Amino acid sequence: MIHSPYILTRRHFFRGLGLGAAAFAVPGAFAAALTQTPRQTEGPFYPDKLPLDTDNDLLVINENLTPSVGVVTYVSGRVLDARGEPLRNAVVEIWQCDSGGAYLHSKTGNAEKRDKNFQGFGRFVTGSTGEYLFRTIKPVPYPGRAPHIHYKVKRAGKELLVTQLYIKGEPGNEKDGVWKGLKDEKARAAVTKEFVALKGSKVGELVTKFDLVMGVTPEA
Ligand code: FE
Repeated sequence: MIHSPYILTRRHFFRGLGLGAAAFAVPGAFAAALTQTPRQTEGPFYPDKLPLDTDNDLLVINENLTPSVGVVTYVSGRVLDARGEPLRNAVVEIWQCDSGGAYLHSKTGNAEKRDKNFQGFGRFVTGSTGEYLFRTIKPVPYPGRAPHIHYKVKRAGKELLVTQLYIKGEPGNEKDGVWKGLKDEKARAAVTKEFVALKGSKVGELVTKFDLVMGVTPEA
């Protein structure tokens, strides 16, 4: 019997495809490299009254000319589903206290010192790349807590994740009960990121990258 080169080619093609499909089918082949972002408590200070402006620039409220007090920090990353695919139309919300430790909440401490120019809360809706970006201040400590930024991710009206972002190398982390509640090194690393100098910035701005990996793979 004469082998047809066509058949061979087809066979190789299928074998190749088989391998490819198998690789994708292995549970966690991709996901193993991804650490799901651990949940952290929402805390009592999710704004009980939203600011007039809820965009992704927390330094400036609407057309206000006076910016907030603090070290300017660009916080960005991607929202990924459990397979590591970018999640579009995810609503990323952040909230944090101002440079004096006051939240946008009627029961906050340090209310009398509130920085009226700090937005304290912002939202970003992801596009097809799953990326988000905020301009805010470097988080500061307040009694009992290491510096942190609160996060909430929602999609199609469903809450997917509530967590907090910490600063890598911050000595206060080791004394923070919420941070210490994460027993696993990988889980800690997943929410503890370096805040580094923004290249070329003459005013000491910082950048940090924080990917948010959901525990679910929502339907499109
Ligand atoms: Fe907090």
